[in-house]
Amino acid sequence: MEYILDLHTHTIASGHAYSTIREMAKAAADRELKLLGITEHAMAMPGTCHEFYFQNMKVIPREQYGVELMFGSELNVTDYDGNVDMQEYTLRRLDYAVASFHPPCITPGSREENTRAACLVMQNPHVLILGHPDDGRYLMNYEEIVRASRETGTIIELNNSSLNPSGFRKNALENDKVILNFCMKLGVPVVVNSDAHIDADVGNHVYAQKLLDEVGFPEELILNDRPEEIKKRILDKRAGL
Ligand SMILES: [Zn+2]
Ligand SMILES: [Zn+2]
Repeated sequence: MEYILDLHTHTIASGHAYSTIREMAKAAADRELKLLGITEHAMAMPGTCHEFYFQNMKVIPREQYGVELMFGSELNVTDYDGNVDMQEYTLRRLDYAVASFHPPCITPGSREENTRAACLVMQNPHVLILGHPDDGRYLMNYEEIVRASRETGTIIELNNSSLNPSGFRKNALENDKVILNFCMKLGVPVVVNSDAHIDADVGNHVYAQKLLDEVGFPEELILNDRPEEIKKRILDKRAGL
């Protein structure tokens, strides 16, 4: 299948990433992506941009080098009630959001607490994607997560960076196998994202692809060739607002 979209990437605005928006867009064009989502870390992440950054993103051209761009944020889940580090006023100005657990922003809870937080944040209408749920530092009940994905329309991410052998997330490969097996059993789709922190990594899905092949994951459950379905999910999730 063709991978024509990548919905989780960072630029220099995130504080620990190294390319500009233009460099990321150029890299996406070179890799023949049609849609690139840039999702800077939200404010609880040390060193990232101010909330004003997210409020002014309307000024950025939505097409560069022939690639459609969307601008969101990777929100931090900040407690076990699924709250995030961005106020509603700003959330409404994003094209969409990813929500993730990061050690500087939330201390890992029990399996029950982490699962509860993930299921609740997936109910947030602005949250399109649950980012790297494979991080074994945050134990979760993956069957419940996959069921919550189906109920809320929030997409589970298969994060290519998690599977990089030099990555720092714990047991990601083992955890992704469990997640993908529940997705196959329940017919729930995933999206593969690079989580690129530099232009060279935009659209990179080599580690994810290897795992998908290994578990025999069906192509019809991989959303990376369907930008229109992604956009419809965003509209559907926000329909009640
Ligand atoms: Zn992250
Ligand atoms: Zn990220």
